[in-house]
Amino acid sequence: MQRTQPGVLKRVELHLKRMVKQVVISHHQRSNAVLFSDTTLRDGEQMPGATLEPEDKLRIAHALEEAGVHSLDAGFPASSESDCEAIRKMVGEIKKPVLTCLCRTTYGDVDAADKVLKGHPIHKRGVSLFCGTSPLHREYKLNKSKDEILNLIADTVSYAAERLAIVAFSPEDASRTEPEFLCQCYQAAIDAGATTIGFPDTVGILTPDKARDYVRQIFEDVPNISKALLAVHFHNDLGLAVANTLACIEEGAHVVQCTINGLGERAGNASLEEVAMALALHEDQYGRTAKIDTTKLAPLCQLVAELTGIPLALNKPVGGSNIFATEAGIHQDGLLKNPDTYLPFRPEKVGAEGIRLVLGRHSGRRAVAHHLEEMGFQPTDEQVLEVLEEIKRLPKGSVIDDPCLKDIAEKIMKR
Ligand code: MN
Repeated sequence: MQRTQPGVLKRVELHLKRMVKQVVISHHQRSNAVLFSDTTLRDGEQMPGATLEPEDKLRIAHALEEAGVHSLDAGFPASSESDCEAIRKMVGEIKKPVLTCLCRTTYGDVDAADKVLKGHPIHKRGVSLFCGTSPLHREYKLNKSKDEILNLIADTVSYAAERLAIVAFSPEDASRTEPEFLCQCYQAAIDAGATTIGFPDTVGILTPDKARDYVRQIFEDVPNISKALLAVHFHNDLGLAVANTLACIEEGAHVVQCTINGLGERAGNASLEEVAMALALHEDQYGRTAKIDTTKLAPLCQLVAELTGIPLALNKPVGGSNIFATEAGIHQDGLLKNPDTYLPFRPEKVGAEGIRLVLGRHSGRRAVAHHLEEMGFQPTDEQVLEVLEEIKRLPKGSVIDDPCLKDIAEKIMKR
């Protein structure tokens, strides 16, 4: 893959572009904002069964934009026409987030991305190149030496940087790549014009401490690191994707790549809503802010569940339907006195509907009385107790909704 060197004018132009890029990068490095890159539409959609139609992707992209996401991993143009169609719908339509397209380290993939992003503002379009770098990928997948991989990175990243303002490079399987070689890959990518370098834990193998060590080493051992932003990407195979992401934020990662509802390959990715809420509640610890409008999160989780057809677990943090529901008497009593007694944050903080006091075998008098009064009954303490006893006698799995409660109340209060 040999190309002729660009002429003098082209080189001056490239130099000027690099200066502008450096100003933007320095701004993000100095700011204490954590930038969210969402990959629901790409890695999320890779989850078996989570296929999205182009118009679904556009709806989700709009919702992500409203929530304040900084960039969208919009798809993999070289892999499918459907991805191209979805990206074309977003071009010019999605205003605030940067749109990036996934590319292998080939000119063809970069050209496909460049073509599909045409018409989008120049400073809002980017490519995200990836190439396997771990011993496993080098030997079994690519059959390439370290030097060949370094040359491939330098060549394709500079090809991309001549065409697009925003170029990310991620060494695939970074978390199983020898740290020294990993740093050489980053150095080569940044020298070639990468504006962001990615650290993907492709198979979700890391723990927070090991993730931290990698980030620390990257900041220490990549000599030109000040010319790029660091983005991290975690998978949840050990249930640690969010913890790893937060550990890297603490170590100074600038960008976090996440998905809504934690959708993604295998056990999924770090869940955007969980990372955003942890940051929102612990700004004192991280000293960083997320420019995410948390009140948009619960509806966003619902939208993604609906459009992907992948339902939310009842107990899914932030978006699950049990997050503001309780059946336990002591908790119900506390919530009625002050919602903060048994909640980490109120429903309105994430745009959820509200607290639900579910009636069941574990419920107490206060919740029963509250429900009855809301339905217009004025029961005596004794009648409340009788209703509660009746509820506790119902068979396992009974749903005590309003009509059911009304039947019980009417039967008892007529006596
Ligand atoms: Mn991934």
